[in-house]
Amino acid sequence: MQLHELIAKQDLYYQSGATRSVRFRRDQLWRLYRALAAHEDETLSALRTDLGKPAFESVASEIIVVQEEIRSAINNLGRWSRPKLALTSILSLPGLSMSIPEPKGRTLIIAPWNYPYQLTLAPAVAAIAAGNCVVLKPSEHSPAVTTLLTKIIREVFPEEYCAVVTGGVQETTELLRHAWGHVFFTGSTRVGRIVMKAAAETLSPVTLELGGKNPAIIDDDVNVEDTARRLVWGKFFNTAQTCIAPDYLLVHERVKKPLIDAMKKQINVFYGADPKTSPDYGRIINEQQFDRLVKLLDGASIIAGGDHDRAQRYLAPTLLEDVTLDHPVMADEIFGPILPIFTYKQIDEALAIAKRQPNPLSAYIFTRNHSLARRIVRELPFGGGCVNTTLAQFTNHHLPFGGIGASGMGSYHGKHGFVTFSHYKSLVVTNFWMDMPVKYPPYGMSHTFLLMIFRFMLLPTKLTARLRRSKT
Ligand code: NAD
Repeated sequence: MQLHELIAKQDLYYQSGATRSVRFRRDQLWRLYRALAAHEDETLSALRTDLGKPAFESVASEIIVVQEEIRSAINNLGRWSRPKLALTSILSLPGLSMSIPEPKGRTLIIAPWNYPYQLTLAPAVAAIAAGNCVVLKPSEHSPAVTTLLTKIIREVFPEEYCAVVTGGVQETTELLRHAWGHVFFTGSTRVGRIVMKAAAETLSPVTLELGGKNPAIIDDDVNVEDTARRLVWGKFFNTAQTCIAPDYLLVHERVKKPLIDAMKKQINVFYGADPKTSPDYGRIINEQQFDRLVKLLDGASIIAGGDHDRAQRYLAPTLLEDVTLDHPVMADEIFGPILPIFTYKQIDEALAIAKRQPNPLSAYIFTRNHSLARRIVRELPFGGGCVNTTLAQFTNHHLPFGGIGASGMGSYHGKHGFVTFSHYKSLVVTNFWMDMPVKYPPYGMSHTFLLMIFRFMLLPTKLTARLRRSKT
């Protein structure tokens, strides 16, 4: 089917009102849940084909994430979709004020290849929960998962409600020529700019889930073994092709040596002496990404790993030290199993290095010193992060997930996804049995009196503000 035909069909379907009842949305989510469960083995094998992903990582970071999103939406949909009452202004009394969550219409979800299943389906769950029609555009670089998703979505939904469009730059560009109720894009900052520009032409609202260089700051007051284990796990999970993986380490010079020793030991514990033969270590998505990563090793001081095999798209878990800040490894998001390690004496030096980069999607802080952790959280802008662990902010669907500045705008997961795909329609309802004549012209003394009342009501706020100012 031609794209414009699909869009016309979805518009008609949406306008029919079929997607709007809570019951319909719940039924669709259940159908999706059951279909995904029925295809679980195929999902594991498709993720293994595209990314060499171990079954545990596939279940933990792809399948369960989507199941949790569906379960949370089904359980909370009634509450989320209810109108929310608000206070009513004195001029509109007697009256009732409320905001009503409404679907945005026909929505577009563009996904990347690194978590190709959940980064396509989790936003789709939010879009469906909010009552929208959906077009999914999975990545062309994870073909096995894209083929499977196309099959599942076709089995579960009629395309006038939810459809998959496959393809790459050309097809996505074509999709972006149309106006959408919402465009939800996950991918690189470079393409995020292209998507936002295209969406501006049609005034389609966007959520951008982008990448960035995520620092991990390690103070000298830490449990070195625990820190090493959590860093190695967070970095090399999914072969470090994770948007929230630590991108580089800023380590207090006093713990550098023990931390590096502990990390090397931990790599060995996780993946054995030869990670190439480990069933728990994946592969780089394609040759293009592999070549880009291997080139980053030029002229770098490799202290662990570094071996690679293009035929297998294998790159060992690699640690670098003595990297200069102008080395290519610090120019852009690494997005692969290479971890440069920098040292600092004073925390200000670490913060200065982190602040040289555009706002990252994540930041990780390891310390027993609570006031230091608070200071870093306060001073460093980042999308989300953890103190004394890694990746955990993503798996908690009660937390909003999203970036800031160059790492994105907007958020999702749980209720936040529902909010992203909803328009909150404001409404003031009044009646005919009383009208406040005082708001209408001709304006006279009674209007001046009314304004005085308003100013009087504002007085406490002004006083509090003045008191606060005088204290600081
Ligand atoms: P990408 O930006 O190259 O591609 C993402 C999607 O955009 C794909 O579906 C692709 O077909 C499409 N696309 C690519 N070029 C396009 C163009 N010129 N015009 C229109 N559409 C285009 O990203 P990727 O390589 O698939 O994924 C890796 C990136 O995604 C990394 O930067 C990573 O940090 C980021 N990412 C972010 C998150 C997050 O949640 N914030 C999650 C995963 C990945």
